[in-house]
Amino acid sequence: MRLRLPGGQIDPGALRVLATAAHRSGDGWLELTSRGNVQLRGLTAGAVQSVADQCAGAGLLPSATHERVRNILGSPLSGRDGLGAADIRPLVRQLDAALCADPALAALPGRFLFAVDDGRADVTGFDTDVAWQAGTGTLLLAGRGTGLRVAGDRAVAAMLAAAREFLAQGGGREGSWRMSDLDGGTERVGAALTARGLASPAVASPAPDALGAPRTLGLPGSPAVPGSPARERPAPAPPVGLPPAGASPWAVLAVPLGRLSAGQATLLAATADAAGGAVVVTPWRSVVVDLDPADPAGQLLRLTGAGLVDDPGSPWVGLSACAGTTGCASALADVRTDAAALAAPPATVVATRPATVLAAAPAGRRPPPGGAPGEPAPAGGVVHWAGCERRCGQPVGPVLVAVATGTGYRLHPPAGAPVTVGSAAAARAFAARWRRRSAGTAPRTPRPAPSREAA
Ligand code: SF4
Repeated sequence: MRLRLPGGQIDPGALRVLATAAHRSGDGWLELTSRGNVQLRGLTAGAVQSVADQCAGAGLLPSATHERVRNILGSPLSGRDGLGAADIRPLVRQLDAALCADPALAALPGRFLFAVDDGRADVTGFDTDVAWQAGTGTLLLAGRGTGLRVAGDRAVAAMLAAAREFLAQGGGREGSWRMSDLDGGTERVGAALTARGLASPAVASPAPDALGAPRTLGLPGSPAVPGSPARERPAPAPPVGLPPAGASPWAVLAVPLGRLSAGQATLLAATADAAGGAVVVTPWRSVVVDLDPADPAGQLLRLTGAGLVDDPGSPWVGLSACAGTTGCASALADVRTDAAALAAPPATVVATRPATVLAAAPAGRRPPPGGAPGEPAPAGGVVHWAGCERRCGQPVGPVLVAVATGTGYRLHPPAGAPVTVGSAAAARAFAARWRRRSAGTAPRTPRPAPSREAA
């Protein structure tokens, strides 16, 4: 069961419902997706309706007809760190409600993706179909700048009008699942919005709008350039850990392999409850949680003690895997276990089933920068492990993808030719070396010998 969380936002009560459902009726885990949503696996056929009812009762399924199309990214730190041009959380809720209220928009493809960016350009690079950026008012279609501006108080109307135009021009049919599939579609959609007065051509100095005055944010990522034909580049994940001193307490925590145990989810819900706050699932498979100002250090200690990661140098950061043989019939390898062994010494990896955990996984421990045999590879480049060539859940941006072949792995670096190796251990050695090189700490070790297949 996949549940959409517009903007990744989930309140503690709803998170508790999901944790209970995973524990009682599923495989005990909540999987975080690369779109900031949540999946439950292993639900028995008899439990599905009951879990759906519980989710509906918790407000997680506001529309039976539109659930598949509630795909909305939002800047995860918006309203918390003061760095965006506006707090876009209310706008995300408005967009979700208006989307669900339009029967015609239930026909959007399930992959159609909206994004509301708070001005820092952190979610506009996520292969979006329709995106809007606060501050500049930039409208993006198919992940590219359109040269059009939309005022904040018209952003919801403009984004939904763009989605309707997509459908009107043939989108949503075989071969046209995304805005980028429509030949000349972005120009026609943009022209339609302009004709209706919802968007206007950019000017050199955009006027302030209702959702924040334009300004240079100086943040990681790639600020939208009006009229730029280039696709937006993915931004780096929000840094794991606590915000700078002085900010209201919250933390970004990496979730090993993007899997929250029911116990971790319950603890996150209790933490947010105590703070009177919420939890945000980010599209980088981490979580943001508000902390109680009376005891942020104690709360953080409990969260990291439960296996969540607050150390940006932890080898779990930037490491992900698809379901593999533990959850997918197409898988050619147990990629979760193979991926976990990159972060934790193999002796500590006991299983990936719910009854056990990555025992004594050094979630917060930073390995030595140079690396050593048997040591976990440090954080560095993003590495994704996939059980087959479909590469489900591959993160956006530069990533080393290890694809199981049935006899080993084929490793696809972001640049350069793929390398095929004959074992999981050789794949891990390659990935560890690549990570160290990405982190600027590569020891002088030989490349792994390619397998006979590669030769
Ligand atoms: S990448 Fe392949 S093995 Fe992994 S979840 Fe997708 S279909 Fe299954």
